[in-house]
Amino acid sequence: MSLYHLIGQFLRRHSAAYASSALMLIGIAVLITWIPRQIGHVVDGLARNELQGLGLLQQLAWLVAAGAVVYVLRAGWRLRLFAASMRLGVELRERLYARLSAQGPAFFQGSRTGNLMALATNDIDAVEMAAGEAMLAGFDGSLTLVVVVAMMSLGVDARLAAFALLPFPFMAFAFWRISRHVHDASRTSLACFGALNNHVQETLMGVRTVRALGLQTREETEFARLAGAAADASFDAQRWEAAYEPAAGFTLATATALTLGVGGWFVWQGELTVGQLTTFSLYLGQLMWPMFAAGWVLSLLERGKAAWGRLQPVLDSPLTVEDHGSVPRVAPGTLVARDVRYSYSGQPRPALEGVTLNLEPGRTLGLVGPTGAGKSTLLRLLLRHDAPTAGSIAWSGTDLHDYTLGALRGAIAWVPQEAFLFSASVAENIALARPEATRDEIARAAQLAAIHEDILRLPQGYDTPVGERGVTLSGGQRQRVAIARALLTGAPLLLLDDALSAVDTETEARILAHLREARVGRTVIIASHRLSTVADADETLVLRDGHVIEHGKHADLLARNGWYARQWRYQQLEASLDAD
Ligand code: ATP
Repeated sequence: MSLYHLIGQFLRRHSAAYASSALMLIGIAVLITWIPRQIGHVVDGLARNELQGLGLLQQLAWLVAAGAVVYVLRAGWRLRLFAASMRLGVELRERLYARLSAQGPAFFQGSRTGNLMALATNDIDAVEMAAGEAMLAGFDGSLTLVVVVAMMSLGVDARLAAFALLPFPFMAFAFWRISRHVHDASRTSLACFGALNNHVQETLMGVRTVRALGLQTREETEFARLAGAAADASFDAQRWEAAYEPAAGFTLATATALTLGVGGWFVWQGELTVGQLTTFSLYLGQLMWPMFAAGWVLSLLERGKAAWGRLQPVLDSPLTVEDHGSVPRVAPGTLVARDVRYSYSGQPRPALEGVTLNLEPGRTLGLVGPTGAGKSTLLRLLLRHDAPTAGSIAWSGTDLHDYTLGALRGAIAWVPQEAFLFSASVAENIALARPEATRDEIARAAQLAAIHEDILRLPQGYDTPVGERGVTLSGGQRQRVAIARALLTGAPLLLLDDALSAVDTETEARILAHLREARVGRTVIIASHRLSTVADADETLVLRDGHVIEHGKHADLLARNGWYARQWRYQQLEASLDAD
């Protein structure tokens, strides 16, 4: 869909606002063409000594009244139009937000946050201006042009109008050339702003790493380079935009010279009165606005087109996870994965290959294996962050695809490796998925996650703000708040992705004991590097390079004397050395 198509759709939907603005503009056009005519009459009346005293005052009063009505109408159309065009900004931001929220991780791998933020701000502003200001200024300018040219030719003298308008085709050509440059420069400028945003966002996110590695100077140099590039690109766009006005001014000056030369000769010949020449010159002056509007409209449209060219691919990007399922509720049952294979795009080797599992409700499955074995990938497939490349996963006999995404994800509580906390209080973070939860329910979940005592020691207890991304809490505290959040949802499937890595073994044992007590009917999958975490699981899968290399209960796995048994002995030895 082109920008014009988008604007056309928007105009149809908000036709009442645009039509009333257009009516007000027509009123303005009529009045501003009447004013020079009236001034011409006054000039001729004065020259002929026919206008004096009260009569003169009355004519002047009409002029002032017309000026006042023009003022009111101008304010009216702007207010009406801006209210409508701001709706387009709101609608586009809602569309962008909805699309970004529906996208899976694969989409975000190819897009950078700073650039997406630039789309939501600068680019949408540019499209909004094209749909609002540009449309009405274009209409106003064209209307004024048609009415003024008609008044010049029909109301004063057609021959003089033909001479006066001679320079205008040259101006149109100049405008067309300038608009091409404005388009290219605007596109570069928006892209540079996106790159600058990316850098600022990434540096702020990693500010501790930057400081710890002493990279401030390097980051500052890079920032200065990107900021300079953004400023240069913006200056270049403005430089081209600034070329419109001199072109219009030069055209008008040439047209005025022609008018005075040819018009003066007509007056000398007695074919035109001085008043008519005055009216004509005033009309010519009024053409400044349509010319200025043409430059302005072209520049707004080119900026809008450049912005829309960046926005549209994101708004229309295919969803990496389709939500075509129709089953609205998950009835907790057996979770079955058959021969699951999954490859990340662009990766030569599959991250999972031939993975099969059968997990009855209320049971606990452990997932272990060396780093990069595919544990998190399997959990992501259960969450439908992506779909298996081959094989299938079903829950209670229904393929995961057949559930609505809302139903599936509502039935799963997931604690990722990196616990993400929002800039809110501890209680609000725990109750994220159940904002209606009572303080007692929140505290109960916190007790199960062994974080209750820590929270009570915070300055404002459960009401303590955790700062952006939970910076005021330790890594282990953040993990336990995230576990409390997951437990509070009461979802029938709990996925813990190395979610206890930052807590000590004693606290981990407490949490696991609480989980066992509280997990009536809840299925749990625990991915972990620490084998003690899964020692009590009903079954454990050992993954390596995406394949299940061992599976069984803790005792069976020890008896096999394979990777699990070796790793167990190693970790036990490490723990006893630590204890010593
Ligand atoms: P760890 O224990 O270190 O968290 P893991 O067992 O959870 O590892 P995964 O994160 O599932 O391992 O990764 C499995 C394989 O897939 C690894 O080789 C990894 O490099 C690759 N991988 C993971 N995420 C992506 C991604 N987004 N794009 C491409 N490859 C990926």
